[in-house]
Amino acid sequence: MSDLVTVQGVVLSAMPIGEYDKRIVLLTRERGKISAFAKGARRQNSPFMAAASPFVFGAFTLFEGRTSYNLNQVSVTHHFVELASAQPGIYYGYYFLELADYFGREGTDEREMMNLLYVTVKAILNPHIEDRLVRCIFELRTMTIQGLMPQLFQCAGCGREVNEEDELFFSQEAHGVVGRKCLGSVADGCRISGAALYAMRYIVTAPMGKLYTFTVTDEVLREMEHHIHTYVSGNTDKRFKSLEILDIMI
Ligand SMILES: [Zn+2]
Repeated sequence: MSDLVTVQGVVLSAMPIGEYDKRIVLLTRERGKISAFAKGARRQNSPFMAAASPFVFGAFTLFEGRTSYNLNQVSVTHHFVELASAQPGIYYGYYFLELADYFGREGTDEREMMNLLYVTVKAILNPHIEDRLVRCIFELRTMTIQGLMPQLFQCAGCGREVNEEDELFFSQEAHGVVGRKCLGSVADGCRISGAALYAMRYIVTAPMGKLYTFTVTDEVLREMEHHIHTYVSGNTDKRFKSLEILDIMI
């Protein structure tokens, strides 16, 4: 029995294999991103029928074979079935899973990304917070967790501390905000308002449980979307399929 291992994780994707089986990708605390074969998961009476699906959080017991993991048992803690009927929320959800998959690595502790996914799925289901804002928050916090946090507290040009009242610009090239004096030394620079900077600073520093507790005006949201979406696409080298679907949906 020593080949059985139990991991805490979330299902990022599930792909049908053959007629009755599935291959799932899990993001876990103990093993990082791994994939597992779920035998019979597409059979009506299979205990894996519902559990081997995206957005399922739980304890996954796996048989560790020589070349791959086989799903042995699942104890589901959260399923979020109601997400399936959230439109276009579900598409945002798939994009978030795809972004987590992009950054996921085998053998790392993915606890922070798992927690972020968990609070983010709950935020999608919360009618009081706009999906577009949820996307900005998820993206910027993901970049932060992945060690790609933009410089929001000092000028990315000269290192001088900056305040929300200053006239500031967000430079994609310099990976952060720059003051008027340093604007000439970067190739790009797009005006960032104090309100947008305040919100972005909050996103990178707030405790996980408090991330989705604010809203912004539409004007600030549009500004954040511009800075953050551009930043994500500039710091990733993949076209996200789910994002293309999302762009058609909204
Ligand atoms: Zn400067």
